[in-house]
Amino acid sequence: MSLSRFNAIDIILNRSDLDLDFVDKATENISSFYGCNVFNDKAMQKYMDEEAYLSIKAIIQSGEKLDFKLAAMVADAMKRWAMDKGATHYAHWFQPLTGKTAEKHDSFFTLNADGKAIEEFDGSGLAQQEPDGSSFPGGGLRSTFEARGYTAWDPSSPAFILEVGEGKTLCIPTIFVTYGGESLDYKLPLLKSQSYLEKHAIPVCHFFDKEVKRVITTLGWEQEYFLIDEALYNARPDLMLTGRTLLGKHSPKGQQLEDHYFGSIPERVYAFMRDLETECHKLSIPVRTRHNEVGPGQYELAPMFEEVNVAVDHNSLLMDLMERIGKRHRLRVLLHEKPFAGVNGSGKHNNWSMATNNGKNLLSPGDVPGRNLRFLTFFVNTIKAVHQFADILRATVASASNDHRLGANEAPPAIVSVYIGEEMTQVLGMIETGITPDAEGVKKVLNLLSKIPNLAQDNTDRNRTSPFAFTGNKFEIRMVGSNQNCARPMTVMNTIVGQQLKTFYAEVTALLGKGIDQDAAILTILQRYIKEFKAILFEGDGYSDEWKNEAAKRGLANTPNTPEALKAYITKEAKDLFESTGVLTHRELEAHYEVMVETYNLHLQIESRTMGELCINWILPAAIQYQNTLADNVLKLKEIGLDKDDYRAQLDLLKRVSENINKVKELVEKMTKARRKANDQSDAAERAEHYCDNVKPYMEEIRLYADRLEYLVEDRQWPLVKYRELMFLR
Ligand code: ADP
Ligand code: MG
Repeated sequence: MSLSRFNAIDIILNRSDLDLDFVDKATENISSFYGCNVFNDKAMQKYMDEEAYLSIKAIIQSGEKLDFKLAAMVADAMKRWAMDKGATHYAHWFQPLTGKTAEKHDSFFTLNADGKAIEEFDGSGLAQQEPDGSSFPGGGLRSTFEARGYTAWDPSSPAFILEVGEGKTLCIPTIFVTYGGESLDYKLPLLKSQSYLEKHAIPVCHFFDKEVKRVITTLGWEQEYFLIDEALYNARPDLMLTGRTLLGKHSPKGQQLEDHYFGSIPERVYAFMRDLETECHKLSIPVRTRHNEVGPGQYELAPMFEEVNVAVDHNSLLMDLMERIGKRHRLRVLLHEKPFAGVNGSGKHNNWSMATNNGKNLLSPGDVPGRNLRFLTFFVNTIKAVHQFADILRATVASASNDHRLGANEAPPAIVSVYIGEEMTQVLGMIETGITPDAEGVKKVLNLLSKIPNLAQDNTDRNRTSPFAFTGNKFEIRMVGSNQNCARPMTVMNTIVGQQLKTFYAEVTALLGKGIDQDAAILTILQRYIKEFKAILFEGDGYSDEWKNEAAKRGLANTPNTPEALKAYITKEAKDLFESTGVLTHRELEAHYEVMVETYNLHLQIESRTMGELCINWILPAAIQYQNTLADNVLKLKEIGLDKDDYRAQLDLLKRVSENINKVKELVEKMTKARRKANDQSDAAERAEHYCDNVKPYMEEIRLYADRLEYLVEDRQWPLVKYRELMFLR
């Protein structure tokens, strides 16, 4: 049974089950327990002999295959480490296309041939597992006869112990593939994209520094979220089932006073945050920043950046931890991109850059002239790639829930443009028009670049309306939704920039072959790129209507809805890109596309059904009850002989309530019909279009009339927790 609104409010006002003074390890020195639940370098050294330790280190560095003997040694060390820490089970931990993490737990305990109980975990248990694949989305990659899915250890991401209550499980980060090795998850394409980028970034680095041996991509995510009391959550079926409020009149006070952003953190929330941070630190998730966000009840947390593969795992793990730790504090974490209409939505900015093994950030300008040409090279090539593949990048963040954000006048627009700040705009402008690409020109450019003040400090957050912004020493991708796995946008960034660097290298080498000096050759190519991608640079207000018109003139795409945006995934251009880079075969690409489309359909189906139920079972009965009260009153007033004019207010109210009741009922019926029609389409993409064009508009219209009823009906009779309560009751 769902809680009633007043029940829920009662629970909150009388909460005695909060522990604000839980043992706070955060007050201790964080370094004393940081990473204690991770099978990290220190643990490996302790539990493995030197030879095995050095071999596994080398494999982690090189990405080479693990042989069986070494797998057995690692498994044994991991088992002893985990058991010393009290773990009883192990699980392959993976990220299927549902977007959530998945684990299949197996016990270390087993019976040997004599029926004796032993604790066992061998190399094959570490290297591979076979969860029942058929319950995970596969987009047609698996026919029933090969329904099995396989998980395989990814040694580049360290194993960790997950503590749930008293239970402890050794979790092994894995990729998830079909019998034929096709990817059923987010991780395999990400890993492939990273090595692809590395392969083509290294030769470009060698133009400037022959010592570079490795290039990694780095990711620092910023996670936004809302917190509400669990009683309120349980009293809102729409939040429980869809993650967002489908109905609800705006609160008279929302975020307009802007008194929440960076304000003092409420005590309960603070307890949650400290608890969460402690758990993160035990798992080596390097969270550092916490603050209030713009919306009431909205917060943000951000770590220090890490290598992309590990950062992606850490963000997925974090989302899982948030949910669990929230429950400990009687709170629910809302990760949906738009839980409340009219209030700021939640994003997950992805700060992306590239770094070399000798610790140089390739997107950081510096005062060493040689390095600045390198910076300019990676900077310009990144923008070139984004210009060429903007639609694919846009598609990576398309989802039913992110549609409420992108292009909806607050979060970044659905048009991909690149913000680079005033100084870099000037520099690119000069290169584009005023400089001849020869030795003299190179000197001028280097001189210009060395005069740039500290971009990192200057550029950060200047223009919050841009979906893709250069913030001094990294690009910040702001389109990513709070609920999404970072892997997809990161995979595409790596892939497109990798391919662009490959082209760049070939073009420069061709000029070198003609005897042109290296720096001049580089500048020649960069100059051409700047001319070619100019249209994507935009420094103005990304939310304005003028920009929409201007962007259309510049030929930039504006695709504000998911079914439309996702089509970019199955163009010939996309297939060529993913297949030639080896990141996804066309079969995998189509399957991933299929899963994304179907996920969209299912989300809208659930939302539309929930909306129907809320209206018929909650809103209409409450409104009819109030209608009765009014009707009784009118009858009585008439009976005692009053004039119609004396009770004109009641009559007017009655009329308005009745009109809105009729509207809601009619529209719910129409929506149901439209939904049936959508479901009848045999093709998933067609279903998506039906949902988007024919079902979704009804949901918006129904909300209008249902919210009017909320405005009219007596407060005491209104069953659904109101916006003001969701946002301000703590
Ligand atoms: P803010 O954007 O709030 O001003 P920062 O610019 O310091 O804060 O960082 C925001 C995020 O960007 C953090 O997660 C940080 O670790 C990350 N970040 C900083 N440098 C890099 C980099 N070179 N590569 C990837 N992420 C980075
Ligand atoms: Mg930022």
